Parts: sequence; structure tokens; C-alpha cells
Amino acid sequence: MGASAIEIRGLRKTYAGSAKSPPKEALKGVDLDIPAGSVFGLLGPNGAGKSTLINILAGLVIKSAGHVTIWGFDQDVNPRQSRAAIGVMPQELNLDPFFTPRAALEVQAGLYGVPKSQRRSDEILRLVGLEDKAEAYARALSGGMRRRLLLAKALVHSPHVLVLDEPTAGVDIELRQMLWENIRKLNREGMTIILTTHYLEEAEEMCDEIAIINHGAVVARDSTANLLARMDARTMIVVPEAAPKALPEMEGIRADRRGDGTIALTYHAGQTRAEDVLDAVRAAGIGIRDLRTEQADLEDVFLKLTQSA
Ligand code: ADP
Repeated sequence: MGASAIEIRGLRKTYAGSAKSPPKEALKGVDLDIPAGSVFGLLGPNGAGKSTLINILAGLVIKSAGHVTIWGFDQDVNPRQSRAAIGVMPQELNLDPFFTPRAALEVQAGLYGVPKSQRRSDEILRLVGLEDKAEAYARALSGGMRRRLLLAKALVHSPHVLVLDEPTAGVDIELRQMLWENIRKLNREGMTIILTTHYLEEAEEMCDEIAIINHGAVVARDSTANLLARMDARTMIVVPEAAPKALPEMEGIRADRRGDGTIALTYHAGQTRAEDVLDAVRAAGIGIRDLRTEQADLEDVFLKLTQSA
């Protein structure tokens, strides 16, 4: 076991077409290393290939070409070990309505061949806050509780790597916070976490590293901090003393009037100093009543990298 929890090399997937639809190349040769112990985010627009990728990791979709190694086990050489190393919390709420949470965990543990003496159903139910629902029928659980049960099921065989497909899509803030807490706790205890998300805020908040996928290829892969630093666009917002007659004009600065009477000055911190922006404002005869700056967020990075499509 090296420093990578997952190694992906030259991964391709083409879905067979039908009479109505042509074959679809969903992954076009993906190389990716996911460091052990990290919280790793897979981001990308709809149809980018994220689900295909994680379903291949989970052993639910058969790849067309390439190699996948999970916790040191090549999927093709050691399929059982590589599958045992990973747990997946799916997006759909596919739960047997007549099972209680405890029964669902016991059945899942049985599927993974976890001996009775090593089962941790009660501990896991406590972790996800379902201990007092252990004997309720799944059909009586709220949507939020079902989602927590799905997380619990992914944990029964104590996997090294946990994959979460859109873990907080459509959940309320309280449940999102709880799931985030659970994920952080599992990560602190040493579990490697991979999550797909639409919510850039979630990626910014949770992920150490991020890969952005577009049209079946990885278009960026870096630490969250570096991805954000790559975007050095800044916007300075000036509240003028009086409505300005003309806007500042200077190379490297774009000036816009905003609806609320402020002036937005956009520039690149690597090329233009804040001092120069202020000079340009004064040169245009604009008195500065107040001032604030806005920084690029992951949304800007994401748009920049996926817009070319
Ligand atoms: P994402 O999870 O990023 O939204 P997907 O992996 O679901 O992307 O899909 C990638 C591409 O593969 C899309 O164009 C999608 O329509 C196609 N696709 C996904 N699953 C299948 C399938 N079972 N059969 C045919 N095409 C599929």
C-alpha cells in the first residue's frame, strides 16, 4: 500500500448504443490518483462521467479499458479484496421498506461476509444518529433518516475508502451539517473519502483535493487551495461619494456600474495592484465613500474550466 488509496490508469468506458442511440464514450482515458486519508471531490457538470467513474470503482459498471487499483488491489486481479476495500453510499434511496435499520445493516454485513462477532451495527447506527430508530420499518423513516441509513450501510464492512454520490443533494441544512460532521469524523479516523457534488460550497468546505471532470476527461486536479489561488481575479467594489460622471479607465481594469449605485472594478491581482485601481478611481474624479473586495470562488474556477464546452 503506497500513498494512494485509489489509482486509476487509462480508464475508458463506452456504453453500447442501441437502435435509437449511438454508443456513448463516457470516460475517455482517465488517470487519477486519490491520496489515502484525503477527502477528495469529483466535480463536473451533468453528464461529465462522475457516476460512471464511481460506479466502476464500486464494481457496478464494467470498464471498457484501463486499470483500477483500490487500496493496493487491482480490480481485475483481486476483485474480492478490491471490492471489500470500498463502501458506496448511492444516490437513490433503494431500501427494502420492510427491513428495520438494524436488520438492513445485518443483511448488508452478511453480504460482505462480516462475521457476527465483528459486526458493529449499534455503533454505526449511533454514528448516523439512528439508534432510536433501530427497530422501525424503513418505510416509516423520513427521507433524511433513509439517507443516513444508506451511509450506515456503506460502513458495515469497515471499508478503507468511502464513496459518496451527491451525499447532500436535496437535503435540508440540518441534515447536510450532520452528514458533513459524520464524513469529517470518519476521515479523522483514517477513512479516505471520495464524494461527488454539485455544490461548490460543499467541495470548498469539505475537500482537500479536487478533480474536475468534463466530457469524460479530467480537466483539472489540484488541492482546493491551489485551485482557488489559480483564480487571481479580484473585484473591488467602490461606493462613490456622488454618482460619477465617468468611469475609471485603465488597462487591466474593467469598470462596471452596478444597480445599487456602486462601481465594480475587476482586475487580476497578479498584474495589477490595488493601489493602481484606487489611483484610477481618484483620477476619474470619484470620491470613495466606502470600499470592499470580492474574491473568486470555486464557482469561477469551475465555470472557467468547463465553459469552453
Ligand atoms: P455524471 O454522473 O457526471 O452526470 P454519467 O457518468 O452519469 O455523468 O454520464 C456520462 C455520460 O454517459 C452521459 O452522456 C450519459 O448520458 C451516458 N450514460 C450514463 N449511463 C449510461 C448508460 N447506462 N447507457 C448509456 N449511456 C449512459
